Amino acid sequence: MIEHGAEPQRVDLGAPVVGRVYGFRSKASGEFRYVGQTMKSVKRRHREHLQVARSGRKTPFYDWLRVTASDEYEVVVLEPVTWSREALGDAEIAWITYLRATGDRLLNLSAGGLGPTGVAWTDERRLALAERNRLRQVPLMQGEANPMWGRRHSEAQKARWSALRKGQNSGTENPNYGKFGPAHPSFGHSVSEATRAQLSEQKQGERNPNFGKRASLETRARMSATRRGRPMPSSVRNAHTRHHTNKGVVSDTCRHCAEDAQVRAQDAGKKGNQ
Ligand SMILES: [Zn+2]
Repeated sequence: MIEHGAEPQRVDLGAPVVGRVYGFRSKASGEFRYVGQTMKSVKRRHREHLQVARSGRKTPFYDWLRVTASDEYEVVVLEPVTWSREALGDAEIAWITYLRATGDRLLNLSAGGLGPTGVAWTDERRLALAERNRLRQVPLMQGEANPMWGRRHSEAQKARWSALRKGQNSGTENPNYGKFGPAHPSFGHSVSEATRAQLSEQKQGERNPNFGKRASLETRARMSATRRGRPMPSSVRNAHTRHHTNKGVVSDTCRHCAEDAQVRAQDAGKKGNQ
């Protein structure tokens, strides 16, 4: 049972803490199994849960609580919430959504929110909530205040997350798939020399994920066949970004330079009209 003694009672512009979102977490795996909200102390809410479990209530969470020894789990404060009960409900929903998305097998019956069984959430309300959460000031959980402080996720948990996320960011699943030029979020950005040096330093020698590894003969034959007869870097756009955009060079034989110039001319035109 952890309660953060150093937790500030006022975290957001002097607003009082109205309640807390808490989680029951397995000590062995680091996985959260239940998320709740309370306006009382988390310690007291924990005792109430134990009483309900003893009374025999049948829900996935209370079934789990009955068969799990008290030293096999801990109850941690996920977030102290200021301002309103509604904000507390929203924070609970945000945590349940987040932990489920990252693979924790929560035993909660509802998606959280106000009331004992939660409320039905429309897509519209969820979007509005996501926007509010983006703007909401969440107290930073750094150092000892972070629930994962001094802990490591188990290999089993990491493997589960890895399997869950596999392919989620590749090909058409990548949010930037098919975006080029001004449509790409990195368009016009360049990385400073200092940052480049730092990134490079992080991947030198033994720190490189491929250090000491060698691709199989089969893989190397395939890579070689793919590249045969093709100048590297293979992508014209990649070459344009590296040799033109990043160096401030404009080539009159490069079609991407021509496109960029067109976009700049359009932007200048818009500004001129304002
Ligand atoms: Zn170019």
